[in-house]
This record gives sequence, C-alpha cells and structure tokens, in this order.
Amino acid sequence: MSKKLVVANWKMHLNTSQASLLLHRLQERTRIHREVEIVLAPSMLVLQPLSLQIDRRKFRLAAQNAYYKDEGPYTGEVSFTMLQDLVHYCIVGHSARRVYFNETLEEVREKISACVRNNITPILCVGETKQEKRLGEGRQVLHDQLVTALSNLTAREVEEMVIAYEPVWAITTFDGIMAKPYDVQKSMDAIRSEIKELYGKKASERVRVLYGGSVDDKDVGGYLEIEGCDGVLVGAASLNYFQFSSICETVYQLSIK
Ligand code: PEP
Repeated sequence: MSKKLVVANWKMHLNTSQASLLLHRLQERTRIHREVEIVLAPSMLVLQPLSLQIDRRKFRLAAQNAYYKDEGPYTGEVSFTMLQDLVHYCIVGHSARRVYFNETLEEVREKISACVRNNITPILCVGETKQEKRLGEGRQVLHDQLVTALSNLTAREVEEMVIAYEPVWAITTFDGIMAKPYDVQKSMDAIRSEIKELYGKKASERVRVLYGGSVDDKDVGGYLEIEGCDGVLVGAASLNYFQFSSICETVYQLSIK
C-alpha cells in the first residue's frame, strides 16, 4: 500500500514570521510517520526561510505555482528551475489560478511539462465549477483538463505525479459546500479511467489521486475511506495548527488500520 499524502495549501496567507511560527507549532505536534507524507505549500516568499527551518523527517515543501519558462526576461516570475533545490512538489492548475488569473488549459500543460522537466513532482488540480456541475458537464471538464495537462508526458511520468480532485464548488475560497464522499468517489473513478484510457492500467493504478475542498479534521475520515483515495489537499484548515495536526493524525490512524 502506498503512503498517504496530506498537502497543506496556505494560499496567500502568512508573512515570514507567521509562517515560521506555524511551522514551529506543527513540528512540535507532528510525529514522524513512515505511513504518511506531509507536504506544506506556503507562499513563494517563505519557501526559502522555511527550507532552513523544516524538519525533513516530518515535512516536505511544495510551491503553489511557478512560471513555465526556465529563465529569461519574464519580470516578476519565478521558474520551476529556480525552485528545483527548494521543493519536492508544485501545485499546478489550482482553481484559484484558473479562476482569478485566467490560467488556460494550455498554460497548465506548459507548467506540468516544466515541472516534470525540472524534477519537481506536479500536483495537478482538476475539478468542475458549480455551473459546470449544474449543467452535468463535470466528466467532460475532467476529461479536457486531464487530456491537455498531461499531453506532453509519458506513462511513466504520469505514474509518478499527483492529481488532486478539487471541485471548485467545494473549495472554501468560492464559498464551497461539503462534497459527499459518494460524489467524490465517482469523480475519482472517472479520473483513474481517463488515465487508464490515455496511459494504461499501470499508470492509472499508480498515479496518486487526492481529494481537496473544505476538508477539515471532522470530515477527513470520510474522504479517506473512498477507494483509491491517496490523501487530501487541505486549504483553510491547514492554517490552524491544531486542526491540521489532527487531520494528519487521523490520516495516520486510518492508514495503519
Ligand atoms: C484549496 O485551496 O486547495 C483548498 C482545498 O481549499 P479549502 O480546503 O479551503 O477548501
């Protein structure tokens, strides 16, 4: 059985000292687990200082975004190449980027390629909006997002990446409502069958698929019971050290059951 993965997306919150304090508290409360991998995705600004403070036996770092060119006159951007020594993972195609910054399917594809090219594991976020769900377009949206984002990758590269199913209508940023595990199961199954069709059975079984959208310490267990769910991506609740460490503990307890 593969390790469960818990990813904390701190979004655009916490300055350097606040982020350092949160990490300090999390390190105090988190035990070292071989069965669970915990990844923190703070803002770009604090990746460097946190990389000096982090206990690598407990946590890994992820970026929330990066630019797809490796270097050049792209004022204001940070490339995957620059992040190589700092992070293991990078979130790509997060709904906040697609919605607020109009990130297109093709841009997400370029970022996924750049991420893999620079030896960083992508955490690709996919999921339908409330409107798309209402129109019954969820499955098509997942298809389009996956086909485009992964089109430059080999089956082997897909096997090693992470896909987070994050229905936009369930994310706190967009006044999300809690998704029912039954509905999440259907979408996660759809993601694995898309991967199977595109990259074969092995890739569809090995790729890690997470759930994200208003996950907290009370409902995390319900999502982890979904067959094929490899972990969770946690936003708002990850800013509270008490809640986040209790999410990690629940994931650990369930993974050794
Ligand atoms: C997110 O932003 O990726 C997320 C899952 O947020 P939240 O848990 O706050 O819904």
